[in-house]
Amino acid sequence: MKKPVIDHDECIGDGICSDLCPEVFELRDDGLAYVINEKPDESLHGKVDEAIEECPTGAIAWAEE
Ligand code: SF4
Repeated sequence: MKKPVIDHDECIGDGICSDLCPEVFELRDDGLAYVINEKPDESLHGKVDEAIEECPTGAIAWAEE
């Protein structure tokens, strides 16, 4: 099972991931994005992949559990 993870040392809080896939990513008041769904449905994997590609700092990745 793989899950999306965010490296908070790399996140600059531009909200691109939460704009692309609000079902999985949320930008919070502390200026960092968080994963709010660690087991996204298969139908959302493409959007997560898009967020991974579009994140300007490469902060998002899939992690194997
Ligand atoms: S796209 Fe990347 S840098 Fe931007 S908020 Fe999401 S994780 Fe942070």
